[in-house]
Amino acid sequence: MSIAPPPKTVLLTGGLGYIGSHTALALHEAGWRVVLLDNLANASRAVLGRLEAITGAPFPFYEADVRDRAAVEAVLKGEGVQAVVHFAGAKAVGESSADPLSYFDNNVGGAVALLQAMAAANVRQFVFSSSATVYGTPKYLPYDEAHPTAAINPYGRTKLHIEEILQDLAASDDRWRIAALRYFNPVGAHDSGLIGDDPNGIPNNLMPYVMRVAAGQLEVLSVFGTDYDTKDGTGVRDYIHVVDLAEGHVAALEALQPGRALGESPFEVVNLGSGVGHSVLELVKAFERASNRPVPWKAAPRRAGDLPEYFAEPSKAKALLKWEAKRSLEAMCASSWAFQSRQAEG
Ligand code: NAD
Ligand code: UDP
Repeated sequence: MSIAPPPKTVLLTGGLGYIGSHTALALHEAGWRVVLLDNLANASRAVLGRLEAITGAPFPFYEADVRDRAAVEAVLKGEGVQAVVHFAGAKAVGESSADPLSYFDNNVGGAVALLQAMAAANVRQFVFSSSATVYGTPKYLPYDEAHPTAAINPYGRTKLHIEEILQDLAASDDRWRIAALRYFNPVGAHDSGLIGDDPNGIPNNLMPYVMRVAAGQLEVLSVFGTDYDTKDGTGVRDYIHVVDLAEGHVAALEALQPGRALGESPFEVVNLGSGVGHSVLELVKAFERASNRPVPWKAAPRRAGDLPEYFAEPSKAKALLKWEAKRSLEAMCASSWAFQSRQAEG
């Protein structure tokens, strides 16, 4: 009889947030022991109870700030952490232009403090939440990882600076194994309907706005730009189901292990997208079908800073991580609607 090895322990910073909470479930399902850390700046403690309700398992949770190096080091050592997935950070583009210093402090300062704590605790497997925003204005599409980078707002610059820091760190000490995952547009929710994207106030992003219009909580969707040079004049993005994205993190962590594709490479950037672009109106129509509700919309001026169209070249993820996005736009809309309906029921 062979004895199974003990599960590996992974720390998720920002683990109660939208993508972190879905990734916690996927990693738990894949056999990892998952420890969560969050300062609750943009998350509710209630998410912890929901993760436990879904899995029937407890998740060790620390309310702490990633900039608190001593606190993070204590968690890493105390929990016997072997790898970190770093979601914690602020992500509102408009806010980052209004208050860039707080974005550099939280995002860049947070990453540096976390990496210092990791080095002190001798933990050197790191997966970072980067973003397709680092590509800037497309020189060609789809964006592959070799596309030049040029962030166009302070939020994007924080992601680019952190990627550069990670590259320098990996070059300085070949014990590090680092994957920077460039996400496209995550939407959708877990099948349970218990966790999902639930921003405070009026949503900035398309899917949460559409969900609230369909539920009658907001009157009408403003479609920002109907005269772009795209298939129907509206903006085109690569929407990726958050559960696919969560599984991409499992694949990345596994690929960082010795003997696996990223195990020999100290630093890699990898796109996590579907490779398919959908317009705003395609998403609205898919949502109407999935919810069986109307989504009234009106044409509105282009939103400052928006690009007309972009989508991923996803083949590097397929080759290195053995991962690809599987879930359809319909599934993204149906799960978003199930989450919205469940929230309304309280
Ligand atoms: P989110 O706001 O739901 O999650 C981030 C979590 O980090 C929150 O729970 C927040 O409370 C926590 N946090 C923030 N600052 C912290 C700090 N200093 N210390 C500890 N915890 C802190 O956002 P999300 O959509 O889940 O995004 C996760 C990551 O993915 C972010 O880094 C974001 O920039 C990146 N990303 C998101 C998207 C997207 O569209 N959602 C796209 C590309 C990249
Ligand atoms: N969008 C829109 N109305 C909204 C929110 C977004 O028309 O209320 C459009 C936006 O112009 C872009 C797409 O929807 O073309 C996705 O925007 P989102 O903010 O969700 O993500 P982004 O790609 O900007 O990160």
